[in-house]
Amino acid sequence: MKFISTRGGEKVTGSRAIVKGLSENGGLYVPEKFPAVSREELEAMLELSYAERAAKVIIKFLDEFDEKELLSACEEAYSRFERNDPAPLVKIDDGVFMLELWHGPTCAFKDMALTLLPYLLRKSCDLCGIKEEILILVATSGDTGKAALEGFKDADGVKICVFYPSDGVSKMQKLQMATQDGKNVNVVAVKGNFDDCQTAVKEIFSNETYAAQLKEKNVILSSANSINFGRLVPQIAYYFSAYADLVSSNQIEMGEEIDFAVPTGNFGNVLAAYYAKRMGLPIRRLHCASNENKVIADFLLSGVYDMNREFYKTTAPSMDILLSSNLERLVFEASGRNAKLTAQRMAQLKDTGKYAIDPQELAFIQETFDGGYADEETSVEAMYGVFEDVGYTMDTHTGCAVKVALDWFDKHKKDETKTVIVSTANPYKFPQDVLYAVTGNDVKDSFKGIKRLHAATAMAIPKCLLELRDKPVRFSKTVDSKKLFDEVLEFISG
Ligand SMILES: *Cc1c(COP(=O)(O)O)cnc(C)c1O
Repeated sequence: MKFISTRGGEKVTGSRAIVKGLSENGGLYVPEKFPAVSREELEAMLELSYAERAAKVIIKFLDEFDEKELLSACEEAYSRFERNDPAPLVKIDDGVFMLELWHGPTCAFKDMALTLLPYLLRKSCDLCGIKEEILILVATSGDTGKAALEGFKDADGVKICVFYPSDGVSKMQKLQMATQDGKNVNVVAVKGNFDDCQTAVKEIFSNETYAAQLKEKNVILSSANSINFGRLVPQIAYYFSAYADLVSSNQIEMGEEIDFAVPTGNFGNVLAAYYAKRMGLPIRRLHCASNENKVIADFLLSGVYDMNREFYKTTAPSMDILLSSNLERLVFEASGRNAKLTAQRMAQLKDTGKYAIDPQELAFIQETFDGGYADEETSVEAMYGVFEDVGYTMDTHTGCAVKVALDWFDKHKKDETKTVIVSTANPYKFPQDVLYAVTGNDVKDSFKGIKRLHAATAMAIPKCLLELRDKPVRFSKTVDSKKLFDEVLEFISG
């Protein structure tokens, strides 16, 4: 299967798309067409393990990979998860399920892709005959950075440098990154918010002078952000897996359509659900949940993407994003895959912070997508309500998705469609905010928060978070967003 750029001009193999991350003109790689999963193939998935299901889905896009080898890579990646099942479904009400994607090594859904991406990248380099050292640059709103560091630490022929907004991540997220071990890793805080950070990193990718300087040092750049198709493709798999689990536990009939509610920031997670639908998975609607930075919710209602607005720091920091990169892939589909128009719109977005799509494009998107948001108060209410009613504890991002799902249920009382809410982080990653939501108590210290949250919920505390208290801090540098490339040069020379 070949991949094309949302802004036109290129056609590359999957391995090339993964190595490059971003296309030359700044566009994102998308599959030339969506491979189909037949009903028979879906039925066959019922009997399979998670790793087997993932390999079946991924090989459809990366058909130049060896299926057996891919399967063993999936098995190895998902053996790093806490349980036998890396993506368990938990029923919380009639027809309502949580898909828990946070049982991996860093306690957030990013692990679903980033435990496998090192294999996908190494293999892609082999397939493309690349001999240079790979430097992975990551801009993170909190969770991607840590998951990428864990995935790539001490990998051969790869270095990884993570940039995070200095005031834009939770204490626990910061501590997770600052204490990272591994010989090939670097972590730098950047002044400003996530958008500044992501824009500065994207600039490095598209700057030709920088590329020449790196080439001299025998280094090429790649990305572990969800702009990289290698990040998206493992995420498609858990939508299939959730569906297969619902059928095999007799919660739905084979072929019955279901909804997903997904907490949304950079639009990677929910885009993977959309790709699953295009491959034939019986999905009816996708409810996108934002926090107060509700640029996507507004876009899905109005067809106008407008990031000229106040930026809020919320208790769901991984969704504190105004420039949602992966939306470009959906807008490309809505335009009838018009690369020229997509390029124009993205140029307009860069210049003015704004673009609009046509009514028929909006109608196309609204056939599947709707959006909503939770402010700080309503997300706390949603988290508290579910905890009170059924004793289920969730993190702050998932709280937004629950609020948006509840709004949908309120408005559509006769709707019998089963809904899966995608749960994206372990509640202990945001212990103070979750503690406040379920008990009303405020504590200053994260580890005290963990202890109290455990007392209130009896939920098991992940060891990787508890250990952080005694781990030495290795990285404490903060730099200006204009200085990122200096950091990169220093890192690869050192
Ligand atoms: C990254 C993240 C999100 C947002 O996912 P996108 O793919 O960027 O839309 C939501 N919740 C958590 C916990 C995250 O880490």
